[in-house]
Amino acid sequence: MHGMRQSELFTKTRKQAPKDEVSKNAQLLIRAGFIHKEMAGAYSLLPLGLRVFNNIVGVIREEINAIGGQEIVLTALQNPAHWKKSGRWSDDAIDVWFKTALKGGGELGLATTHEEPLTALMSEYVSSYKDLPKYVYQFQTKFRNELRAKSGIMRVREFVMKDLYSFSRNEKEFRTFYEQCAKAYEKIFRRVGIGDITYRTFASGGSFSKFSDEYQMLCDAGEDVIYVNKARKLAVNKEVYTDDVLAELGIAKADLTEEKAIEVGNIFPLGTRFSDELGLKYKDEGGKAISVVMGSYGIGPGRLMGAVAEALSDEKGLVWPKEIAPFKIHLLSIIGSDETIRGEADKLYELLKENDIDVLYDDRDVRAGEKFADADLIGIPTRLVISEKTVSAGGAEMSGRKNGPASLVSDSAVIQKIKGE
Ligand code: ATP
Ligand code: MG
Repeated sequence: MHGMRQSELFTKTRKQAPKDEVSKNAQLLIRAGFIHKEMAGAYSLLPLGLRVFNNIVGVIREEINAIGGQEIVLTALQNPAHWKKSGRWSDDAIDVWFKTALKGGGELGLATTHEEPLTALMSEYVSSYKDLPKYVYQFQTKFRNELRAKSGIMRVREFVMKDLYSFSRNEKEFRTFYEQCAKAYEKIFRRVGIGDITYRTFASGGSFSKFSDEYQMLCDAGEDVIYVNKARKLAVNKEVYTDDVLAELGIAKADLTEEKAIEVGNIFPLGTRFSDELGLKYKDEGGKAISVVMGSYGIGPGRLMGAVAEALSDEKGLVWPKEIAPFKIHLLSIIGSDETIRGEADKLYELLKENDIDVLYDDRDVRAGEKFADADLIGIPTRLVISEKTVSAGGAEMSGRKNGPASLVSDSAVIQKIKGE
């Protein structure tokens, strides 16, 4: 669907966010009608928000397909048997489990992550060195009983994760893919508009390996503290910020500045932790059984949407980068006393749609000031205004959300101008 009349959109902008909403991203997204707050840590996506979310998913999907990812969807319901094998069924191992008792006895969990079921699943398909390497990913719902849920859609109790898992024959093959994925991540963060404020960050490898890599976006509302070297475009998470680690990484303390940040993605070596426990092995050329070397790679598209809202918005409202904006063009008709303007605006709307340009058309009968304020709040990157003034000058006025000077574009040039942007 390329066009939408704002008069038909069921959501409306509002002046105030709910009183209990403390985060900037959710306040703006609620006021602009992108999301609905159901309760703490649980939000619903509305038409405008879903469009942004789907655009982010589209960018991630393209880049992960480009490095050989095969997309699947695993069930969110978790069979305790797999998790007992890895020792992660207990609340001591994963403290954010949502679990539920089954009516007929037994219990199940809601997925916090998917290493266990996918490793078990892959063991039914992988048997020989010829079956590897393989890269499998999904956009799938995770449930986490997070203690604090005060960061709007950046930390919620139910969220979609892009989780990718790599299955390699050995450490070298694994590392090659790991670096390919790091490059894909950099492209993703650039395309969604936060490339220049997002840092590959050395972080703890947890129980799996010495280090992992986090992608941290600088942000005052972030819950992580990182030490950044802007010139080298790298950072170190506070949790591994020790003299020993800095020496190992060849980074001097004096070249780092402390910043607050939010993790938007991570890549994680898993070694053979899960393949050992869940029996994922392959036979090498000599027929010897060897555990598959694994990695996991996560990005939360919803957190990314919140992070963009948090970092790029201004005092007037949201500011969407082109690739993920809900619409490319916001067309505003300013009717005044001349009803023929409505016809002119309708014509331009039809022209944009015919040319496959995503357009939100503010055709409502409201004051000009209200239309402009709403357009600022919604944050679509390019605005086209049709009024008596522009029609008598032979076109529409075009401007950027960040208030670049408006320029008159003639009706005949408008499509080319937009496509050339
Ligand atoms: P954090 O330290 O912020 O809790 P995490 O280490 O638990 O993150 P992972 O388990 O590695 O995160 O999840 C991968 C990605 O999923 C994160 O980089 C983030 O983008 C997203 N994510 C994680 N937890 C949440 C959440 N509660 N709400 C929304 N997105 C999340
Ligand atoms: Mg977490």
